[in-house]
Amino acid sequence: MGILDRGRALLWPDRCILCGQVAAYGECCCPRCRRETPPLEGPLCRSGLLVAAPWPYEGRVPSAVARFKFRGDRKTGRRMARQMALAWREQGGDFGADSITFVPMPPERERQRGYNQARLLAQWAGEELGLPVLELLGREGVLMQHEMAASFRKKGARPVFRLLPGAEQRAAGRRILLVDDIVTTGGTVHACAAQLQRAGAEAVAVLAAAVG
Ligand SMILES: [Zn+2]
Repeated sequence: MGILDRGRALLWPDRCILCGQVAAYGECCCPRCRRETPPLEGPLCRSGLLVAAPWPYEGRVPSAVARFKFRGDRKTGRRMARQMALAWREQGGDFGADSITFVPMPPERERQRGYNQARLLAQWAGEELGLPVLELLGREGVLMQHEMAASFRKKGARPVFRLLPGAEQRAAGRRILLVDDIVTTGGTVHACAAQLQRAGAEAVAVLAAAVG
């Protein structure tokens, strides 16, 4: 580390993404979080899709995701996206993604919140990975995540995703990385991937901040 970096690290130490405590220079997480919630080492499989992510959805990860997702802490979001890009480089194998897209929110919800966290993560991770972001999917309905989770449990209902106009031309033959913030059962990303495949995508894999 050069003297300027050393000075910078002393004056503005890196904070742990997960708990906010001081982390070692250049590190995303403090030793305690690293110990309590070890980063994922390999990709997981959900609903038949390869899912890469830096963290399991446990320990302090849910509250860190919520800080970005519900309270709009973009600095946390950006740093998460950076870790997602690193996770993709390590876990993506020879998938060879050539573009990136994201799970859409109902438009009314996105207007209320002012952003779609999955869209932002896709933009930032796309910058890191040098992949163009394609807006391909739309979504019906206005259910919030927790309402949707409840409706999954009650009726097995699924949110409805559709292709945006012109998505076929843009998705055809592509190897697409689909971004969401959290993947649990994989029902949502599976429904999105089915639409992308309908549009002629050659392959779809998933990149998330955390996998439950
Ligand atoms: Zn920490």
